[in-house]
Amino acid sequence: AAEVTTVTPGKLTMSTNAAFPPYEMTADDGSFEGIDVEIAQAIADKLDLELQIDDMDFDAALLAAQNGKSDMVMAGVTVTDERQTVMDFSDTYANGIQVVIVPEDSDITSIDDMTGKMIGVQRGTTGDLYCSDTVENGGFGEENVTPYDNGLTAVQALMNGQVDCVVIDNAPAQEFVKANPGLKILDTEYANEEYAIGVAKGNTQLLDAINGALAELKADGTVQSIIDKYITA
Ligand code: GLN
Repeated sequence: AAEVTTVTPGKLTMSTNAAFPPYEMTADDGSFEGIDVEIAQAIADKLDLELQIDDMDFDAALLAAQNGKSDMVMAGVTVTDERQTVMDFSDTYANGIQVVIVPEDSDITSIDDMTGKMIGVQRGTTGDLYCSDTVENGGFGEENVTPYDNGLTAVQALMNGQVDCVVIDNAPAQEFVKANPGLKILDTEYANEEYAIGVAKGNTQLLDAINGALAELKADGTVQSIIDKYITA
């Protein structure tokens, strides 16, 4: 592979929020695991770089890549028009759906029922941005939305009755519902999204290298097999 210039020579630094299973989570021994971690490792191997993972809040992970403090953000990041104005994205590697988690006995049975309810989200995520938007724009108004540091704390707030529902990506939603009896996911989907790797705007050298590695890893089935390992259809 061609030489790429990175923040720390010889390393590929990934900022993430390792509280977003099964994309990134922290194992009992403190190591990081998940779909993004394995794909990032495979990309680093192709580029002859050592993967370094920096764990932080989701909004900080985006900013780190945006400001060139990390080489890339990989955190189940949804490509949006707004984010594309401040950072560049690789080709997409996975799909996400925003879903709604409610207590099993909730009177919320559809997205319309969420009007006037207290909604928990992860700060700075697309779920946050959509729900906090005005009613005219398809949201529920900022006053009805409580942002939490990560998905886990949002789900804990739901368990404690501090919010009536949580809007979050489908894959972590399933993990959180599995781990917390008494919760369920509504059948209705809130939004369909695509995940990609974010880099500082204009860093085409790194972006091209990432896209090249990603294309090979998609073509030889590596990306799909990593996803299948963590997500059973
Ligand atoms: N896909 C969502 C977003 O990009 C949430 C990602 C996350 O919480 N790690 O905003």
